[in-house]
Amino acid sequence: MKLMEYQGKDLFRRVGIPTPEGVFATTADNVKSYLAAHPGSWVLKSQVLMGGRGKAGGIKFADDAQQGEMLARELIGKLLQSIQNPAGEHVKSLLVEEKVDIASEAYVSIAIDRAAKKPIVMVSRFGGMDVEEVAAKNPDDIKKYWVDPAAGYSPFMGRLLAFRAQLPDGYRKAFPSVLGALYTLFMDYGATLVEINPLVLTKDGRVIASDAKVELDDSGLYKHPDIAAWNTAAPADEDQAAAVAIGLGMSNYARFPDEPGKPAKTVGTIANGAGLGMGTMDAIGNAGGGAANFLDIGGGAQADLVKKSYKLVTSDERVKAMFINIFGGITRGDQVAKGIVEALAGDDVRKVPLVVRLTGTNAEEGRAILDRAGFVPVETMDEGAARAVALANGSN
Ligand code: GDP
Ligand code: MN
Repeated sequence: MKLMEYQGKDLFRRVGIPTPEGVFATTADNVKSYLAAHPGSWVLKSQVLMGGRGKAGGIKFADDAQQGEMLARELIGKLLQSIQNPAGEHVKSLLVEEKVDIASEAYVSIAIDRAAKKPIVMVSRFGGMDVEEVAAKNPDDIKKYWVDPAAGYSPFMGRLLAFRAQLPDGYRKAFPSVLGALYTLFMDYGATLVEINPLVLTKDGRVIASDAKVELDDSGLYKHPDIAAWNTAAPADEDQAAAVAIGLGMSNYARFPDEPGKPAKTVGTIANGAGLGMGTMDAIGNAGGGAANFLDIGGGAQADLVKKSYKLVTSDERVKAMFINIFGGITRGDQVAKGIVEALAGDDVRKVPLVVRLTGTNAEEGRAILDRAGFVPVETMDEGAARAVALANGSN
């Protein structure tokens, strides 16, 4: 689960990492009234999951309520795009924060180094918007330290890294405790990545986390129900919201925009398991078609979820045919078939030509149900993909 900046900073405050004073806002009126009550210089920061907001025009500075209102109107609803994220993300909310006078921007992160089986800490004195370039061109300017998880964090690690990375003197006193708090967050909240870029040294000598990027391991979320609830509170985009709304995980559904020069994305897909989902998309590509979406219905899907998933995929008007590809393990073929039949019995769904491949647990029962309802199930994935592509193209 990726957190937005304002959520990451909530965790920062819980562990004692200094953050700028600020407020979360969803309307320009919110921003206006807040700035009117708090005169000063403020930063308006678009709350999206993609990085590189500064370069994408998602960070603005305001010196009074009127300017703040105008900029907020400009930002809310805006589509932010970057090279890493060409599809972009719509801004739905802002974080309004005191503008700090920056003397220096450092970079600090903790991630999991799977090869070393240890958390890896990375620090650079060249933080800010061009840190990717630093990593590419001057990798030596990023200093690394692997923490032994059994021993945990000790302040000497922070002192050592500050020294090696040649952080400006102003950082030296605060850095070991900031890094220690970041390590606590990383461990206690089951993070896979925590990043502060920039960790700012202000002109008046404070060390402040000006940005926050936090990614949590979904399998540990049950330990923090309050944070797990953020999941539904703030899905990053429409697809994630739609997935959560029908009871799937946030990353279980994604639509793909049409690409110039590639086959039109007209085949809807439902599979169980991310691997089979991706394989299904490939099979459609190999058959000369374009998969409109990825939908992983997960293990143990019941008829109701199959029905909701069918409705979700066909709500994409581009979908001209559907390929449901289920390998029954925990998911039972008869449940899947029942869901399909129920979904298509309703008047509230858009019906498109349908190809179903069922194998595994209760596949026979499932096929019998489909048979009775007049469907012809296919045996193999390639056969199913070819058939779905042909149907999407309007032939039988
Ligand atoms: P990102 O581009 O998505 O990583 O967003 P950041 O929160 O890192 O902001 C991008 C850049 O905006 C920072 O590197 C700073 O240069 C600038 N910025 C953000 N907040 C402030 C602030 O309070 N004061 C000043 N002077 N610059 C800021
Ligand atoms: Mn940043």
